[in-house]
Amino acid sequence: MPAVSDVWNYIHKDYRQYKNNQSHKQSLCKFCIGKAVDSLVAQDNTALSEGQILQRQDSGEIEKIILDTVFSGSEEVRVFGIYEARILKGQPDFLWKDLSRCPHAST
Ligand SMILES: [Zn+2]
Repeated sequence: MPAVSDVWNYIHKDYRQYKNNQSHKQSLCKFCIGKAVDSLVAQDNTALSEGQILQRQDSGEIEKIILDTVFSGSEEVRVFGIYEARILKGQPDFLWKDLSRCPHAST
């Protein structure tokens, strides 16, 4: 079993609290967010090739927008294209379980 703190290599952590929990921050799985970013990049490519937009957004920008959208929103799950981003409780034990269930995690 990897060290508890290694979990943060796979998780985006917010500065805001998870629900009313005082000790844990809201978190998102990096694998799921990566899929959401890919999906929006693909949408941008389509829009660009169809002349609906003039410039593609940088994937780093897209990631920032997604993280901010999910973390600042009131919904626990947001859908980007065909991928879901679910807010997770930022507690390492729980996060390892979430990662083990993630369909996009490579390990
Ligand atoms: Zn995931």
